[in-house]
Amino acid sequence: MRLLFIRLQWLFYVLSASVLLFPAPAYAQWYRLPFQTMGTQAYVELWAEDASQGKTLLTDVQSEFERINQLMSPYIASSELSQVNRDAATNPVTVGAEFYQLLQQAEQLAGLSDGAFDISFASVGFSYDYRQHIKPSAAELSSQQPLINYRLITLLANNQVRFTQQGVKIDLGGIAKGYAVEQAIGLLAKAGIKHALVTAGGDTRLLGDKRGRPWLVAIKHPRKADGIVAQLPLSDSAISTSGDYERFFIEDGVRYHHILDPKSGQSPSGLMSVTVLGPDATRTDAMSTTLFVMGLARGMAFIEQQPEFEAIFISSEHQLYFSSGLAQ
Ligand code: ADP
Ligand code: MG
Repeated sequence: MRLLFIRLQWLFYVLSASVLLFPAPAYAQWYRLPFQTMGTQAYVELWAEDASQGKTLLTDVQSEFERINQLMSPYIASSELSQVNRDAATNPVTVGAEFYQLLQQAEQLAGLSDGAFDISFASVGFSYDYRQHIKPSAAELSSQQPLINYRLITLLANNQVRFTQQGVKIDLGGIAKGYAVEQAIGLLAKAGIKHALVTAGGDTRLLGDKRGRPWLVAIKHPRKADGIVAQLPLSDSAISTSGDYERFFIEDGVRYHHILDPKSGQSPSGLMSVTVLGPDATRTDAMSTTLFVMGLARGMAFIEQQPEFEAIFISSEHQLYFSSGLAQ
């Protein structure tokens, strides 16, 4: 008995020595981290070959979101977005190449969508506070609406931005989250990760598959808090949903929500949600907002012209509509 005890003690010493020599046991597994960022819930899940790499990459993803938030948040006074909104109507503002390129991408989609996607929606958008049920007065709306016009944003050489009219404001809420999701997946791919999911709010990007089977991404039910309307098997692609149910209030039977039609400065009705599938989250994010503004008929015609993208519309009558690539 005593002998056995001594042997066990030795075994314990040998084991603890090996733990000291090899502190992070190398084994492949899934690593997961939910976190809050950009005013929303985010989540990353990745397959890594060893624990220290897996854990480091989880926090790298979180830091990448925070880095982009510091550049693009309208709530952070030192963000590049806030600087542009403060000064670009007075003099050209120099921004970083990354911010400038996202403005270029937004401008391109504004042109392509005939102004349905327009980051200067914020010229009116800043007068809404959905939490406090505040909306612009009729007088404010009619004076601010003409300031929604992407042509009033001039992208000059050397990463300079200029507004050609006082009162213009921009916001990247329709594209920045998807961009951050895409950047996060980019850094994981660069680190050699082959299977990952990154999601924030309604924007999701998948890297590879879920090791032999597709990822399953749910489309939220637009009216039932935890309900879903469909689950899509996906890999190596992006999916974004825009809805009228994330930030809104209802007054006199009218639903005031966070997507604005640039032509009116008011929330479009007719749809409850639009989901867009495509190759990258930056574009699916911006595209879902765009289609929401366009509505079913125009939105469907538009997406059918974009061979890389598919869409699922849910009308206010709870009817589902699929673009032709999904219709089977
Ligand atoms: P979420 O922010 O819930 O993911 P969306 O991707 O649909 O939803 O983006 C909605 C956001 O897009 C709004 O909160 C606002 O910041 C911005 N936005 C609203 N209307 C427009 C528009 N017409 N063009 C571009 N961006 C818009
Ligand atoms: Mg969007």
